[in-house]
Amino acid sequence: MAMMTGEEYVESMRKMNLQVYMFGKKIENPVDDPILRPSLNSVKATYDLAQNPEFEDLMTVTSSLTGEKINRFLHIHQSTEDLRNKVKMQRMLGQQTAACFQRCVGMDAFNSVYSTTYEIDEKYGTNYHKNFIEFAKYCQKNDFTVDGAMTDPKGDRGLAPHAQEDPDMYLRVVERRADGIVVRGAKAHQTGAINSQEMIVMPTISMGPEDKDYAVSFAVPMDAEGIIMIIGRQSCDTRKLENTELDVGNSEFGGVEALVVFDDVFVPNDRIFLNGEVEFAGMLVERFAGYHRQSYGGCKVGVGDVLIGASALAADYNGCSKASHIKDKLIEMIHLNETLYCCGIACSAEGTPTASGNYIINLLLANVCKQNVTRFPYEIARLAEDIAGGIVVTAPSEADLKGEVTGPYVEKYLKAAKGVSVENRLRVLRLIENLCLGTAAVGYRTESLHGAGSPQAQRIMIARQGNLSKKKELAKKIAKIND
Ligand code: SF4
Ligand code: FE
Repeated sequence: MAMMTGEEYVESMRKMNLQVYMFGKKIENPVDDPILRPSLNSVKATYDLAQNPEFEDLMTVTSSLTGEKINRFLHIHQSTEDLRNKVKMQRMLGQQTAACFQRCVGMDAFNSVYSTTYEIDEKYGTNYHKNFIEFAKYCQKNDFTVDGAMTDPKGDRGLAPHAQEDPDMYLRVVERRADGIVVRGAKAHQTGAINSQEMIVMPTISMGPEDKDYAVSFAVPMDAEGIIMIIGRQSCDTRKLENTELDVGNSEFGGVEALVVFDDVFVPNDRIFLNGEVEFAGMLVERFAGYHRQSYGGCKVGVGDVLIGASALAADYNGCSKASHIKDKLIEMIHLNETLYCCGIACSAEGTPTASGNYIINLLLANVCKQNVTRFPYEIARLAEDIAGGIVVTAPSEADLKGEVTGPYVEKYLKAAKGVSVENRLRVLRLIENLCLGTAAVGYRTESLHGAGSPQAQRIMIARQGNLSKKKELAKKIAKIND
């Protein structure tokens, strides 16, 4: 089996013995939990759409490892065309789900671990690249969803991993055995962890010689003994328990993040990709972050498309779509959104092969892409709220729309443009609320700021890649400065 249907994916998740906690309780059946199910549906869409002839070119590709047709989320990029298609696929999926579809972290981990392990083996004669290729083939054959885990809790941000008061603030090796290692620590904000069969763990920062035990990368099944996931709650999450489709805004799709705890988890030797070669921790971080910053030039743009559409609909329903300032605001939203897409495509088009042969994005442009993503979705959301009007946060509930006493008043006083039902008007307002302030705001708004690294992380990379000395030389030449 090289590709699963959406239903087969859901069934495979049902078989996992995941340790998931939410609101202080163990969730025995995360697949059917009403709060969590929309996030599973978003990942399911990556399987369903791969079976759809309309999206086949974007969603599927021939594996460079097995020659079989696979889902692009498990692909090792072979060209700049692959890099561009990745971004196009992410935009399309953002459009279809208006949520985080979670599977990109695994794809980005795949490509960064692939090239980094090759370079570690070249230097040290280790076996990590072969380990990774076997793991990648296993995932491709089973069409798994793979989580990519990077962010450690970090404790005191001013201290290196080895210098923390609590040594577990960065995930580390606590025991070395003949057959493998035992790891302890946690990974925070883990997108899609509860909807994945496997997880690739990577270090979160560059490391020095004293951080040897922290320079570790490996793969484990999500139901490995000792892994516990604590769900991050989202704004308006319990609306999903209220049996209302309308008030949820996006009732079918969503995203999910969890704090993933590794309470002494065993990792066999053949699943280790880095183990103490400290100088490669930074390379792995830089590459994973670069790929994921490229990703945001696709997924956030797709969700932005839905938000722009919702805003235009809200204007239609309010009867003000012909007002020149509304038209101009929609143009501004499109301009900002397409600028993000330009960045995603540009860093892909300027990609280059690594020593291992897979393709990596232009790191400077990928960081510029993500830096823009830390800003533009906020402005797009501001304009959406501007166009929608204050009712986006004051509208009555579906229950009031249908209430015996309240219904007629809601119907009468929330009527806007002729021919538009109040229910449809409320539906689009709730979608805007969901994207800007509700559960999807995690994936669209705040994740745009912090996902794939907070703004300062990109600025450090921009400083490193920006080649200021070359720019000074250019200025000196033009100004005829000889020093
Ligand atoms: Fe994919 Fe975007 Fe979610 Fe990251 S935030 S996993 S790139 S959809
Ligand atoms: Fe993300």
